[in-house]
Amino acid sequence: MQLRLSTRNDVRLFTAIVVVAIVCGSVLLNFMIMPPDLMRKTMISGAVIAMILSAPVAYFVGTRLREIHDLNQRLRQAISFDPLTGAHTRTNFHSRVAQLRRGPMSLIIADIDHFKAINDRFGHQAGDTALQQFANALMDNCRASDIVARFGGEEFVILMPATVTRDGLIAAERLCQSVRACPITVDGTLMNVTASFGIAGLTDPARIEQAIRAADLALYRAKAEGRNRVCLYDPHIDKTVGPASATSAL
Ligand code: GH3
Ligand code: MG
Ligand code: MG
Repeated sequence: MQLRLSTRNDVRLFTAIVVVAIVCGSVLLNFMIMPPDLMRKTMISGAVIAMILSAPVAYFVGTRLREIHDLNQRLRQAISFDPLTGAHTRTNFHSRVAQLRRGPMSLIIADIDHFKAINDRFGHQAGDTALQQFANALMDNCRASDIVARFGGEEFVILMPATVTRDGLIAAERLCQSVRACPITVDGTLMNVTASFGIAGLTDPARIEQAIRAADLALYRAKAEGRNRVCLYDPHIDKTVGPASATSAL
């Protein structure tokens, strides 16, 4: 059983329960070890003393437990979600993927085109705003079951469960189009931003690394072919993926 004190009311309730338990315990103890006469005379004062002593200690412990709960929540949030964009972190991405069952899935890698130029021209702060808007464009155009994660600076990985490669390709084209169609606003200035996308299919969540590598090779080709486009991993065009011939798993 886990004791979760998340609000002030939880702390008050915890304090009340502890105080009642201690007062009842002390009365019971007196009842067992004291002669009945003495017990009757000291019962009220004993209970009051137990209450006065236990209440601040219980409240102090309750407050500390609430702080631990808050810290725990913040730690969980920091481990799971990127603070700048709200996308899943790489760690959380992998733990979510590990819970998936086998089945058709699509893995997309998205990377903003010429992002360094945005930073150089408008400043790092503007770059951060662009990143947030880019991440929102991805997340707004994905399903709730899709896992959108920030893997690096301006590189995002999207795992679409229950999505055959053909549908994943359509989804990636839609994402590419929505980024292209929505200029990013920085200090009231509209900037046209594009992104390139690489996509690979997979069926076994255990082979996620190979799929990431394959989508990365496809992304590399999308960049080389002029950016602002989607490329599907093709083992005949892109380099083979890893020593275990990951293409067989894709
Ligand atoms: P390409 O089209 O080939 O992807 O070019 P690019 O300029 O987008 O890629 P490059 O890898 O050359 O530059 C990525 C830049 O992203 C460089 C780095 O300073 C910037 N960057 C990484 N993380 C952040 C961040 O959190 N905020 C901001 N503002 N910039 C970041
Ligand atoms: Mg880039
Ligand atoms: Mg990059």
